[in-house]
Amino acid sequence: MKHQARKRFGQHFLTDQSILDQFIGHLRPRPDDTVVEIGPGLGALTGVLLRALPHLHVVEIDRDLAKRLREGQWAKRLTVHETDVLEFDYAAIEGRFRVVGNLPYNISSPILFALLNHADRVIDQQFMLQKEVIDRMVAEPKTSDYGRLSVMLQAYYHMEHLFDVPPECFDPPPRVMSAIVHMEPKPAADRALIPHAVFARIVSAAFSQRRKMLRNTWDGVVPMALAEEVGIAPTARAEEISSDRYVALAQKLAEQAN
Ligand code: SAM
Repeated sequence: MKHQARKRFGQHFLTDQSILDQFIGHLRPRPDDTVVEIGPGLGALTGVLLRALPHLHVVEIDRDLAKRLREGQWAKRLTVHETDVLEFDYAAIEGRFRVVGNLPYNISSPILFALLNHADRVIDQQFMLQKEVIDRMVAEPKTSDYGRLSVMLQAYYHMEHLFDVPPECFDPPPRVMSAIVHMEPKPAADRALIPHAVFARIVSAAFSQRRKMLRNTWDGVVPMALAEEVGIAPTARAEEISSDRYVALAQKLAEQAN
């Protein structure tokens, strides 16, 4: 029976074989890789992944789709985690793993932020997302796309915008352009130096009013003398500061608190 795409789950199913081939060409899965696919849907990507992998973990919220996967042709080679990925416990996966998926666009940022907590065990991530979100992820300072998402993710990952995917490659077609991003966590030693809570707090505060000068947005949050020590001028605006500089400031603040 044909599955009726559910809007609330962001269901747009990939139908273009050449996009799947390109996705796999970049991912280059190896038989001993542990791979988690978020949102397998009708299995377009799942099937291509299973050509290279003996086994795959899939996380799917839609009861009907999860049932199809549990009962379908790949049943024995899949571990189907029928749950909301935002509640998924990655502890269910052993060892280090790779994460892939054509993500539900309405919750792509929360999925990315949740995965930040698992960067120690993640080998890499390769996702199809709304192109506009990927543009923001990889944006350079002083551009209109540069924001909280750019600063937070650039601190933890090397990221590459691989290629764009037009709406007609899906059924039903989404209203927006899509793209593929590859993300690799930076070395553990570098990530360990980021005081996460402080970093997240100052970045959120900075971008709460991105056009204002930081001496105003950070009033009561960051002493400007400390910001100046890492080369951030009181008159600078949030979008002018590189991710590295926010990290350096978070480190100073954290040191001062100890
Ligand atoms: N991978 C398939 C493809 O490329 O054709 C489907 C991609 S579709 C854009 C997104 C998939 O994520 C759907 O299967 C949808 O049911 C699933 N999904 C949506 N929200 C989810 C959630 N919170 N947790 C897990 N899966 C979710």
